[in-house]
Amino acid sequence: MPLGIASDRTDAAVPIEAGADSLVIQAPPVYYDYRNHSEIKAALYGIETSHPLISKVYDIGDSWEKTQGLADRDIIALKVSDKVSGDEDEPEVMIVGLHHAREWPTSEIVLEIAKNLTDNYGNDSRISWLVDNREIWIVPLVNPDGLDYALQYDEWWRKNRRLNYDGTYGVDLNRNYAGSMNGDPEGAWGGAGSSHDPSSEVYCGEFPFSEPETQAIRDLVLARDFEIALDFHSYGELVMWPWGYTTEVTPDDADLVRIGNELAALNGYTAEQSVGLYPTTGDSIDWHYGGADIYAFCFEVGREFHPDWTSDVLAIIAENIPPALLGIEIAGDREERAFDISHEAVPLRNYTAIGIALNATVTADRGVDTSSVRLHFSVDGGAWSVLSMSLSSGNDTYFGRLPELPVGSIVEYYFVASDLAEAERMAPLYAPYEVFSFMVTEEGPASPVEVTFSPPSEIDGSVSNTVAAHAHNVTADMELLLHLVNASSGYTLDVAMEHIAGDDFSGVLPAGIPLGESDLWLTVEELGIEIWSSAPSLLMVSDQTAPAFSAHDAVQLDQTTVVFTVNCSDTYGVVLVVLTYREVGGGPAQSVDMVLAEGTSTDGMWSVTVTIGGSDPVEYSYRAHDNVQSADLPETGSFLFTPVEIPEFSLVLLVVAVTALSVAMLSRARRP
Ligand code: CA
Ligand code: CA
Ligand code: ZN
Repeated sequence: MPLGIASDRTDAAVPIEAGADSLVIQAPPVYYDYRNHSEIKAALYGIETSHPLISKVYDIGDSWEKTQGLADRDIIALKVSDKVSGDEDEPEVMIVGLHHAREWPTSEIVLEIAKNLTDNYGNDSRISWLVDNREIWIVPLVNPDGLDYALQYDEWWRKNRRLNYDGTYGVDLNRNYAGSMNGDPEGAWGGAGSSHDPSSEVYCGEFPFSEPETQAIRDLVLARDFEIALDFHSYGELVMWPWGYTTEVTPDDADLVRIGNELAALNGYTAEQSVGLYPTTGDSIDWHYGGADIYAFCFEVGREFHPDWTSDVLAIIAENIPPALLGIEIAGDREERAFDISHEAVPLRNYTAIGIALNATVTADRGVDTSSVRLHFSVDGGAWSVLSMSLSSGNDTYFGRLPELPVGSIVEYYFVASDLAEAERMAPLYAPYEVFSFMVTEEGPASPVEVTFSPPSEIDGSVSNTVAAHAHNVTADMELLLHLVNASSGYTLDVAMEHIAGDDFSGVLPAGIPLGESDLWLTVEELGIEIWSSAPSLLMVSDQTAPAFSAHDAVQLDQTTVVFTVNCSDTYGVVLVVLTYREVGGGPAQSVDMVLAEGTSTDGMWSVTVTIGGSDPVEYSYRAHDNVQSADLPETGSFLFTPVEIPEFSLVLLVVAVTALSVAMLSRARRP
């Protein structure tokens, strides 16, 4: 039975077995087996072979010895991404190791980052997401000649293996970049922290990018669009950012400081500006930033160049995987501006015949691209579908409606949105490897609105009509709306229903809706988005109110002419008013249709001028017809000619009087 006693030197001892026959097993010391160029190259090709869909090897250049035909060492890059052979519009990040020949753990760290990304793809949601959403270029070994020389002949070798003009060997590759923004086309190359003496450990070379190894990195950087670069060196337990050539800070210092501290928080290293260690010129991160606008970070890992014990090397590797993953993630928005999608997931949602609406609140410092918000969903493990979500007016909530799904369906879903800087955000964060889900049920904590609506089939359009509905689970965010469309006239009406009490709602259709058939239906909107709708039903609008007379008059114009005036109103306008008159004591009854086109009246006032043969008294009456009703003026009128010629001034007075009467009638006759 194990006692559980473990040594704190796990590489030196294994747990002791208890009992009379217990045996102490001493494990031999395990030395870490640092890989040389050909082993690292084989490891990269091995990753490509094992993971061909998400990794691809690129030969990006030759070592100096290969350019001279002295060896066959390439600078090898491994691209890790989904659809790896294509160039997708995904944030790009570069991770490089071992510029300096003796910094052996650094190529192992970078190789392990590649292995971690590819081996865990499909198993780890975050890593799967990073591989899907980034293009990650990994170069574990910038200095292959130097590493092989250090492993075989001189473990303290630092530079590459160029044969210099004075017979000495090597250029310090991390002094051979240009870099900086000091206005000099060579950048700060060749300045402080470097030497022009070829025998120096920090010999900068004869000119910037004189070395094929730095040229390979330069050409990769110029061909890509890296947002973030991580350059692994040893040692010192530091995370550093530009500048190294000056104590001045960069224009992006706030971002670099913030990200540098985030990275260092994960490996426990000290975060500082590169110049803080010692001034350097022509190093990689100054050129990445100054020459290619990359947020570049130099990691000085561990506490020695060649830790011997496997456990120590594995610990250094392990502590640098998390910051590397964070750097890959931050490449998606290195300004790290706030951008959130919030959504309340519930495990059960009630069935509805019109599908289930889902909402999410999306906010972004730089503003949300409102057309970018998408809902991805999968039913019962099927293929993913995607639908656009619409923004409700007045807030940041977006709605999308799933199709009708049977009870028992399991729905998985996630949201995707972009901000105005084209940074992309998902909810859950590493969707679709993390998703929300629910089951469609008839019973559940969700309480969708339940509506009972019995639309009327016919109304009297001459008066206002109250329409009732009953709705359960209506929240303050919801609104019940009556919709009416008269297709033949193009008339439309939307009426908000008022909450009366309990589940009771009421809406008023005003008088005056066009006669005939209209469609009437009820919707429920939540924050401006329709969440429920009744089917349109046919509504017959008729006029059930007869025309009404309010006044009439007859005025002599001259010896044979009478102006007849009547006020008659109806909800839909009088279709026809008929004047019937005859001379008292003889003559046939005659009638005149008083229609607007022939008369002179408007808005309920009807007027017609009639010439009558003689001077006998006249009797008259009116009848009005609307579309369904007719009505008679309840009294008849009579008129007696005045047998004298009317003076001209009296005629003027008469016209004034008629006008006054008309105005009086008009004011009574106007519809509300
Ligand atoms: Ca090559
Ligand atoms: Ca990709
Ligand atoms: Zn170094």
